[in-house]
Amino acid sequence: MAEEVQKVVFDSGEAAAMVEELRGSYRSGKTRSYEWRVSQLKKLKKITEFHEKEIVEALRSDLSKPETESFVQEIGMLKSACKLAIKQLKSWMKPETAKTSMTTFPSSAEIVSEPLGVILIISAWNYPFLLSLDPVVGAIAAGNAVVLKPSELAPATSSLLAKLLGEYMDSSSVRVVEGAVAETSALLEQKWDKICYTGNGRVGRIVMASAAKHLTPVLLELGGKCPVVVDSGINLQVASRRIIAGKWGCNNGQACVSPDHIITTKEFATKLVDALKSELDNFYGKNPLQSKDLSRIVNSNHYDRLTKLLDEDKISGKVIHGGERDKNNLRIAPTILLDVPQDSLIMQEEIFGPLLPIITVDKIEDSFDLITSGTKPLAAYLFTNNQKLKDHFVGNVSAGGLLINDTTLHLAVPTLPFGGVGESGMGAYHGKFSFEAFSHKKAVVYRGFFGDAAVRYPPYTKGKLTLMKALVGGSLLGIIRALFGWSEA
Ligand code: NAD
Repeated sequence: MAEEVQKVVFDSGEAAAMVEELRGSYRSGKTRSYEWRVSQLKKLKKITEFHEKEIVEALRSDLSKPETESFVQEIGMLKSACKLAIKQLKSWMKPETAKTSMTTFPSSAEIVSEPLGVILIISAWNYPFLLSLDPVVGAIAAGNAVVLKPSELAPATSSLLAKLLGEYMDSSSVRVVEGAVAETSALLEQKWDKICYTGNGRVGRIVMASAAKHLTPVLLELGGKCPVVVDSGINLQVASRRIIAGKWGCNNGQACVSPDHIITTKEFATKLVDALKSELDNFYGKNPLQSKDLSRIVNSNHYDRLTKLLDEDKISGKVIHGGERDKNNLRIAPTILLDVPQDSLIMQEEIFGPLLPIITVDKIEDSFDLITSGTKPLAAYLFTNNQKLKDHFVGNVSAGGLLINDTTLHLAVPTLPFGGVGESGMGAYHGKFSFEAFSHKKAVVYRGFFGDAAVRYPPYTKGKLTLMKALVGGSLLGIIRALFGWSEA
């Protein structure tokens, strides 16, 4: 292992030089080989195995993330992604045989997955380890060179990633650039073969505009307001636990797929609130500001943003649980609000924190109109035992992903694509979808010199046209008629 740590502090010129170097390495063909890909994936896996403690410490320093969440939601998930890619890589790389048509007869065809080239990955602060390296797994599995720009808002993890990738990975083809807006802007000026960006939609637009200058494709993993529809007649204890696990048990609500708000009926709201309160007490005790099982808010800007949502006049008196805060330690207790107006700030933007508003409707079916009238979320959840409601939800609600009777766990299913739609993003990754996200599916047709049909060549004749029409029509009888000049009786 032990290649030298890459310390990069740079401007556009240095960024250009670095991309040129990586492009040279990519053009040499080294990243295309199965052996290179597997060796790099194994090194990523080793990072999760040999440096778990350092990663947990970095996440604690950046977010006070509880060790269990760090392991289950970041380190463990990355390790699983590496294991799957290592196991499946040969089959993913294998060309896929495709059927051919009469037009090319005789021929054979296949779809060959080829790497795109040099990839830029820009990641976010909330899952700074997983969101940085999970796309790297896909980029490497697909045979690309890659530059990772972790988030400056998680500085301990960013510097650990730079150190570990510098030590473990092949520095001719894998680099980490630390930095904030200036460094990211310098990177975005360069020509990449794909940019994968995880973060908010405002910066997503900046990334896409930069990419457009070079016609570079983008994978945008954005956010949104993920709704949870809760019907009556369910197991309330299990449902509340699962809502809490997806909200406060995921980085204290600072997760892209965390429940943003609940929609339930007026009639059922009180029962649901009681169940949530009771389970919150069981999980985090009577003084949640002291709980070691809740992450803190990432920084004072986000703390101020969240308390502004909470302090808006329009929602005065709506907090029915929690609301305690501690600015010095950047902590906000799990907070539930009931019946907040739709035009309040908290309902206008993604909350991304420990506040959970509950909206009430007359009939549960009304909740679907509320969801479909807004922008498309990254995830939407429904708790119900009613099959008709499930069918309606799956058939009509557009979101990056849906999960029935639980929250957030769908992203842990490696056979499913993970990504948004509309405002919540474009493109998807995870499992084989990660390999595909960073590959080009190249169409290849093989022909020999036998069977060179004169019908395609000039001089064009009526007979040739009739035969062509019969070929396109696909009827064997029509083709025979055209070949032998028989007219239809
Ligand atoms: P962030 O502040 O860490 O920003 C993300 C990246 O963008 C960072 O690397 C940062 O350096 C870069 N950046 C910031 N401003 C920039 C600029 N002006 N020009 C170029 N680059 C810039 O993260 P964030 O945006 O606060 O992340 C939270 C958002 O991300 C939420 O909306 C959340 O839902 C979404 N998110 C989505 C996913 C997903 O997988 N879909 C995962 C996590 C977070």
